Amino acid sequence: MRVFLASIPLPGTSIVVIGAGDAAAAKARLFDGSGAKLRWFAGPAAEPDEAWITRWPEAEDLCGARLVFIALPDPTQSAFFAGLGRTSGAQVNVVDQPGLSDFHTPALIDRDGVVVGIATGGVAPVLAREVRARVEAALPQGLDRLARLAEGLRETVMATLPDFMARRRFWEAAFRGAPRDLAVEGRTAEARREMLRLLNRPEQPKGVVHLVGAGPGDPELLTLKALRALQDADLIIHDRLAPPAVLDRARRDARRIYVGKRRGEHSVPQEQIAELMIAEAKAGHRVVRLKGGDPFVFGRGGEELEAVRAAGIDVIVVPGITAALGCAAAAGIPLTHRDQAQAVSFVTAETRPGGAGPDWTSLAVPNHTLAVYMGVAGAAAVQAGLIAAGRAPDTPVAVIENGSRPDQRVLTGRLDGLARLVAREKVISPALLIVGEVAAWARSSATEQEVAA
Ligand code: SAH
Repeated sequence: MRVFLASIPLPGTSIVVIGAGDAAAAKARLFDGSGAKLRWFAGPAAEPDEAWITRWPEAEDLCGARLVFIALPDPTQSAFFAGLGRTSGAQVNVVDQPGLSDFHTPALIDRDGVVVGIATGGVAPVLAREVRARVEAALPQGLDRLARLAEGLRETVMATLPDFMARRRFWEAAFRGAPRDLAVEGRTAEARREMLRLLNRPEQPKGVVHLVGAGPGDPELLTLKALRALQDADLIIHDRLAPPAVLDRARRDARRIYVGKRRGEHSVPQEQIAELMIAEAKAGHRVVRLKGGDPFVFGRGGEELEAVRAAGIDVIVVPGITAALGCAAAAGIPLTHRDQAQAVSFVTAETRPGGAGPDWTSLAVPNHTLAVYMGVAGAAAVQAGLIAAGRAPDTPVAVIENGSRPDQRVLTGRLDGLARLVAREKVISPALLIVGEVAAWARSSATEQEVAA
């Protein structure tokens, strides 16, 4: 180890900043609202402002200062104030002058109660910032809420669990399971209740279920929250729509359970999936139910949410990029357009056996985009239904197979040739149909004419 990172409690600590430029302002900003006593000497040439003092400091100004930051253009002046600060017993940092400094400032991630620093000993600050960006993406936004919750319960925990090891086990459980997830989501009251429950019944840690939207396939289209859930999971329950490239990003030693679901395939019944999630969460595991696209768009996420909640398990829903958005972006189709589409509807062509199909009359209007899910087998019905309801036969259509994946195909044509296009090109699931004027924008890999030719 070539550098050592220490943390200094800020409330009440005296900090001095010397300088008038942007670098000085950045240092001063660091301590805004931190509880430190900040004095900023901007020199006699500075405009009067209540934020700073318009002179340079004297020796007695630095008395009692813990940290002194110097951001001045003149090296002689910097060295002078550095000496002054050191004589007063302060630790001195001269911006961009590691040789003149007692300490360097690490790249910081500030989550209030939790602060992460990345240091390279001043050798490669840009590399430190690169690392920071990566770590930052892995840390939940609400981490400080968790830290504050823990702070509030510290004494209760001390009193309840006098044994050090028992206490440590408790905190580990609290920072892994439902209490943590609820706290970072901002569900602080529930998180506190969970922590107290765990404190009284440490033998029964409670897990949590994340209903996670995996997006259409490209793992880069995962949300930061989804990625975190995947990397924290003990168990991942997925079906065919969960893209392999996304599963690759999950924690290596997480168990994976495949619950099927292909058209006509024998898949695990919905109730059994819910039972599995409930049992695993009750055993204290972090369960990720990974669903293609968004869990609440034709994903039966609502039913799963209801079942798991009814069993008293905490559920956190992480939205995903639904197929319509992912496919439209991948094919270059704007779903709405000032001149060509004032509305967009997400429709499914598939219904329960014996159930009513979509109401084509209300959907067959001009300048209205339809994103049709699960429409491969029903392409002929979509075509016939819309034309019978009055949609123009020459309305542009696009078919996007495996949208956002390496094997994506985009086919284009007219509404009256939709079924033929799907059949001739042997379109396979998953594929999304887009019907509407905007479909003419598609960057296609084959058109109906080319196919026919
Ligand atoms: N919850 C999912 C939809 C599940 S229904 C979502 O929000 O996207 C399954 C249907 O979604 C498929 O039949 C297909 O129409 C569509 N779909 C999902 N992923 C797709 C992809 N990568 N490319 C094209 N269509 C996709």
